[in-house]
Amino acid sequence: MSTYLVTGGAGFIGSHLGDSLLASGHRVICLDSFSDSYDYRVKMRNILPGGLPDSLAALSDKEEALAKLKRSLPSERYRLETVDLRDSEALERIFESECIDAVIHLAALPGVRASIEQPLLFDDVNVRGTLLLLETMRKAGVRKWLCASSSSVYGHNEKVPFSESDPVDTPISLYAATKKSCELMGYTYYHLYGIDGMMLRFFTVYGPRQRPDLAIHKFARLIDQDREIPFYGDGTTKRDYTYVEDVVAGIRGALDYVEKHESVYEVLNLGNSRTVSLTEMVDGLESALGKKAILQRLPAQPGDMEMTCADIGKARRLIGYEPRTSFEEGIRNFVRWYGGRSS
Ligand code: NAD
Repeated sequence: MSTYLVTGGAGFIGSHLGDSLLASGHRVICLDSFSDSYDYRVKMRNILPGGLPDSLAALSDKEEALAKLKRSLPSERYRLETVDLRDSEALERIFESECIDAVIHLAALPGVRASIEQPLLFDDVNVRGTLLLLETMRKAGVRKWLCASSSSVYGHNEKVPFSESDPVDTPISLYAATKKSCELMGYTYYHLYGIDGMMLRFFTVYGPRQRPDLAIHKFARLIDQDREIPFYGDGTTKRDYTYVEDVVAGIRGALDYVEKHESVYEVLNLGNSRTVSLTEMVDGLESALGKKAILQRLPAQPGDMEMTCADIGKARRLIGYEPRTSFEEGIRNFVRWYGGRSS
């Protein structure tokens, strides 16, 4: 049994990763501030797959609810730390309190548009927070980590599919710039202190528990409520949608790799390598929900990329990564989850 610290462990991807690590018999320390990026009750539900007890759902005070949540965790091997990544003393206490084998760093403020509105906050959480984490790991002697990066670092890359060896020095949103900064700091700590790491570039992850601000979830909600969906541009922008279970399998493969190898610094695409246009995505949702969408046509947004598409050859070669879920199946699973939520 290993002990893993998962930052952002109550979020969309982090909670699925926590489930997977627990199912393999490991110990999970979930560090999450339950930030205001979206409703903290959604995150509480993420880590209690059996559902949120009524006594918790009814509480309107966040602190009280989080304190109670700590008494109904999914396993004895699961520890919840409701702290902010930027609280260096709290971080140090966690690292001093038990022997951590590796860190999977997923905590961040996500979202291209939100980062354009709040650049200083994004820098503080995503860049300074990551640096504090690396410093604390260094002091505690933890030498293995994975860090969530993003396809957004490819900016206006015109060469498709995107390869890890493509130049990525033109981020077109502050969010992308913070993710590139994390990759750079990862390299520096590898070079200076031998902290082995893989920087994982996720490509538009979707599936059950998807963040409510992400397009598939937002559109499903609006279609369901017979409301207009904001449809930016002409519908030809394309995304490499990657199913969350495939991403978790990729994270597990990367974890295995950094744990088994010495002197590792790698950047890895974890995508699906198949693009779906905005129009096709809406069509897919319409057929899974059995309802027509009402489109509110809007101009393309600044910071939005025309297309994302991952070259996953390196991930296949290094960690045996192989996404298995078709978009049709993934959307069906998402809609099944969406329809079955307790609220
Ligand atoms: P998420 O928002 O659901 O999860 C992030 C978690 O981090 C949240 O639970 C949040 O409360 C926590 N958090 C935020 N600020 C914190 C802080 N200061 N201290 C402690 N915890 C904090 O997002 P997600 O979609 O699960 O994304 C996970 C990671 O993957 C992020 O780093 C994101 O940038 C990256 N990523 C996600 C996608 C995607 O499509 N979902 C794509 C590319 C990259």
